[in-house]
Amino acid sequence: MLTRLPATADALACGAFGLDLVRILADVTATVGEDHLAAVDADLAEALTPTRGRQVVPGPRVLRRSVTEIVGQHDPSALPPDPDTDGPLPADPAHQLDFTVDTRDAHTTTFHVTMTPDEATGTLRIVDAVAAAHHTSRAKAFAELVHGAAGDVSVTLNCYRNLDSGTMHFENTWLSSVATDRWTARVTHLAVPGHSATDGRFVTDNQRALRIGVDGTCRGPACRRDAAECDTDHIHRVDEAANSSDNTDNSAPTTTTWATQQLCRACHNAKTRGLLDYTTFPDGSTHVTSLGDGHRVVTRPTGPLADADLTFDQRLQRRTAARTEHQEALAAHRARTAAAMAAARQEGNEKIPF
Ligand SMILES: [Zn+2]
Repeated sequence: MLTRLPATADALACGAFGLDLVRILADVTATVGEDHLAAVDADLAEALTPTRGRQVVPGPRVLRRSVTEIVGQHDPSALPPDPDTDGPLPADPAHQLDFTVDTRDAHTTTFHVTMTPDEATGTLRIVDAVAAAHHTSRAKAFAELVHGAAGDVSVTLNCYRNLDSGTMHFENTWLSSVATDRWTARVTHLAVPGHSATDGRFVTDNQRALRIGVDGTCRGPACRRDAAECDTDHIHRVDEAANSSDNTDNSAPTTTTWATQQLCRACHNAKTRGLLDYTTFPDGSTHVTSLGDGHRVVTRPTGPLADADLTFDQRLQRRTAARTEHQEALAAHRARTAAAMAAARQEGNEKIPF
């Protein structure tokens, strides 16, 4: 793998990536075709190179997810088979969507359900929401769902689609084209993600969806919890923010997407107890400082919206650039046409009717 991907090998030479992580890279890139190696190599090297000092090394799940996404964009045929979407099922039963029933025990029956990771995430999120609302187990929640007796429980599952490239993520899992169609068919509400501010302490659904899409995982140091399973945390306590110098007119507390982050319960508790201090920077990185020994690490957002243009200014800049490019191309085309017509007239060819 290191011989086939020289830029990646250079990026790994820093020694920060343990053998378990290198093994994931080798596993996911093993079948990339020769034609796509250079492109995959360049993207991979970029993804593995830290952009800030003291940046935390990605965990196995985040790494596998981002490498799979890179390979999928350049050489989808090199991805491991997805039995739900890739035509005829392979012979290996382990790769099939499956539902087996084990009745050997006289007192209990065990179901084994096999599905694709995106379907599994969605299903589990629904079962967990019912279990939480009814204060019951996953198994009982599952039975209630099957009987249509789950009641009025709502679950928000977020898909993020890049309108330029067409690629879609379900939460922070990259979707193949067929999985994209499957999830698109389930969409009930659309929103354009962007930074926003609202009055009060509570995060709106759109604000939470934006934070999940940007952060990808819990922003605690080296924490791997999915952002969708985390709380949306006010980086500064709301009371402090209301009294800070930013808030000169003494207005009520506000909730803004740029001053919030996703934190799992454990990391949230550590922050609330004053063990860790969080400082965010405009490039999206966060410095997490231990108040005990001053040790500092940098975490980066890894979600599908991590590099998206989320402010009006950024969007306007991109639109301006796109329009300028279009107008320049148009002007060049007109100049070429005019020159060709002038040249034809000079030659005095009488058959040209102008
Ligand atoms: Zn955490």
